[in-house]
Amino acid sequence: MKDINFKNRKVLIRVDFNVPLDSKLKVSDDTRILASKPTIKKILDDGGSCILMSHLGRPKANEKEFSMFNILYKIEEIFERNVIFSNDCIGWRAKELSQGLKPGEILLLENLRYYQEEINGNYSFAKKLASLGDFYINDAFGTAHRAHASTSVIAQFFPKAKCFGYLLSKEIKAIGKIMESGEKPIVAILGGAKVSSKIKVILNIIDMVDHVIIGGGMAYTFIKALGGDIGDSIFEPDKEDMALSIIDLAKEKKVKIHLPKDVIIADRLDNSANIKASDSFSIPKNWQGLDCGPKSSIVFNDIIQDCKTILWNGPLGVFELSRFSEGTKALGRSVVNATSNGAFSLVGGGDSVAAVKMFNFESGVSYVSTGGGAMLESLEGKSLPGIRAINMR
Ligand code: AMP
Repeated sequence: MKDINFKNRKVLIRVDFNVPLDSKLKVSDDTRILASKPTIKKILDDGGSCILMSHLGRPKANEKEFSMFNILYKIEEIFERNVIFSNDCIGWRAKELSQGLKPGEILLLENLRYYQEEINGNYSFAKKLASLGDFYINDAFGTAHRAHASTSVIAQFFPKAKCFGYLLSKEIKAIGKIMESGEKPIVAILGGAKVSSKIKVILNIIDMVDHVIIGGGMAYTFIKALGGDIGDSIFEPDKEDMALSIIDLAKEKKVKIHLPKDVIIADRLDNSANIKASDSFSIPKNWQGLDCGPKSSIVFNDIIQDCKTILWNGPLGVFELSRFSEGTKALGRSVVNATSNGAFSLVGGGDSVAAVKMFNFESGVSYVSTGGGAMLESLEGKSLPGIRAINMR
């Protein structure tokens, strides 16, 4: 992007402005809009104009609460200028407004997902969108794993006039720094509720990492499979065999798998529950493991400080409740410390990103990914349709 001059170009940009709105339909977190600011600013500074297209939520019909109009004021605030709004993303109105667009102006299109054709990857819908601009940029990592009309199908109409936006480039580089050129030793920290959602990630990264730390709810399927007593802790009975195969595979590849030695257990999932520390392999009946324990945090810290590349996906406990957040916080401190000593750290995938933000670790890690599902699919080794479409000549 940086080598292209966008003077007098009408640039159609797929952004991910799927931001959360509060009960008054005001933007409650503008991170995603800010994330695409460098891309939009570069085009405006060059003397081009921007046609922004995005989805917002999951509309069934054309419900008002999913209208992009709700976030228009926030875009105007961030770019300190009036932004033109088209109440349709295709059709004569969008066409007329895009034709009249002058250098330095921004046009925001209505929610792409008001049309089912967007999700179906409909060819003629993509062609109509494409007719609005003369250059296409994909800057929406959050939807890069979808083969939708605006994220993938549309790119074919710009064979020589398409590129990644700065945000998408940054995401691709950050993943590459782990998956392709990660400096060893490399540790992957995997947490979250279920092992089933992370199996493909483990199988894909096992060849490149030196350590895998497994925490959160998913650890109990491994502990149970290894013969531990897990009380009422969350686990997936149909994944026990898979857990054992992963342990065998890791041994074969000389990758060390680390499970929590101790955990914080509770008699119910509540901040007012009775809680205590327990050996993770002997959790009493009627108690459940909801956080990793202090001894585990020390062991995990030692591993993390020894590593040069760190991938963190998923919290180590029910971090949303303060009494079960210490393990995730301790882990965050370890990752921040290792990063300040020169390690590269990437935090990606839904809830670990939420945890990093909640405990203010964001500025202390090297990169926080903006795309949950897209990050997970990248870590699973899949090629993403949104990225493929730009690379295709
Ligand atoms: P995921 O989306 O798979 O990354 O899972 C994130 C969710 O896992 C968070 O909402 C956590 O509260 C939850 N979680 C983490 N540890 C546990 C645990 N030990 N028991 C139940 N849920 C957990």
